Amino acid sequence: MSDLRYEAPATLAAAVALLAGANGKARVLAGGTDLLIQMRSGRIEPGLLVDIKGIPEMTSIAAENGGYRVGAAVSCMQLIEHAAFSGTWPGVTDAVKLIGSIQVKGRATVGGNLCNASPAADSVPAMMAAGAVVRIVGPGGTREAPVENIATGPGKTSLAGNEIVTSFLLPRRAPHSGDAYLRFTPRTEMDIAVVGAGVNLTLDDKGYCTHARVALGAVAERAVLVPDAAAALVGTRGDAAALERLAAAASAACRPIDDKRGTRAFRIEVAGVMARRAAEIALARAGRSG
Ligand SMILES: Cc1cc2nc3c(=O)[nH]c(=O)nc-3n(C[C@H](O)[C@H](O)[C@H](O)COP(=O)(O)OP(=O)(O)OC[C@H]3O[C@@H](n4cnc5c(N)ncnc54)[C@H](O)[C@@H]3O)c2cc1C
Repeated sequence: MSDLRYEAPATLAAAVALLAGANGKARVLAGGTDLLIQMRSGRIEPGLLVDIKGIPEMTSIAAENGGYRVGAAVSCMQLIEHAAFSGTWPGVTDAVKLIGSIQVKGRATVGGNLCNASPAADSVPAMMAAGAVVRIVGPGGTREAPVENIATGPGKTSLAGNEIVTSFLLPRRAPHSGDAYLRFTPRTEMDIAVVGAGVNLTLDDKGYCTHARVALGAVAERAVLVPDAAAALVGTRGDAAALERLAAAASAACRPIDDKRGTRAFRIEVAGVMARRAAEIALARAGRSG
């Protein structure tokens, strides 16, 4: 085993400098609930770990332009316990609640969930449906990208080796908005998604849907946005026919694998069911009557 250096910088600038100086041999350490397992199994062998949990701007949740800026190193439990955030984004909160056990949630972060790039990561479809945008900092400066542009395949991201995701911006909510995330797993707890579905929508004063975003996890090599499923809702009151079209569009967008936890055909079918049920919850949360 080669030498491993551990650093816990107190500022973002120091973290960026450490990563930049490590010639690709460093890894960002957030909660470590994915990274340490990968290191123990020998899958990766970094020379330097840069712990970001001591950087104040990465561990805080703040109001911004009517929305929320959530630090990438905010733990799942911190997010769940933030009453104003979970009241505004109950679907994102549902997704974060599903990540591991209480002990895992105390360490695991939303940034780590995204940057680990598992196709089954629970918070990612919910964040995509929410329209979250991440801020990324590297030696070249700061850039922003929608959540859907980060994972490029299993374990792969569009981030340069020396870039850090510093925060997520969740936009201001219009009145009559609601979101929801559901997943299917063979076991009720401590299992990863066979299918995950996130839906976020806004209704007008008469109950017609004016805006929707639908995202699926675990049905392709990365989480996918499904514009056709969202389009099935817009202009409707979320009636049975619209929900049927949404389910069909969700199933059609799936490119899943076959494995011991679910066949391709099963995942395709369940994706439609999960998307429809998530849409029903989102509609109810947005205040749809009847
Ligand atoms: C028992 C158990 C159960 C689990 N259950 C679930 C589950 O139900 N659903 C689910 O989605 N996941 C689950 N996980 C996986 C894991 O807990 C989550 O993916 C978690 O959110 C990872 O966050 P972390 O802070 O621990 O990431 P880390 O392990 O610290 O990092 C993960 C990866 O992302 C990189 N990284 C982290 N933060 C950043 C950043 N800000 N910028 C750039 N790169 C970064 C790291 O370098 C590493 O490559 C489970 C894990 C365990 C051990």
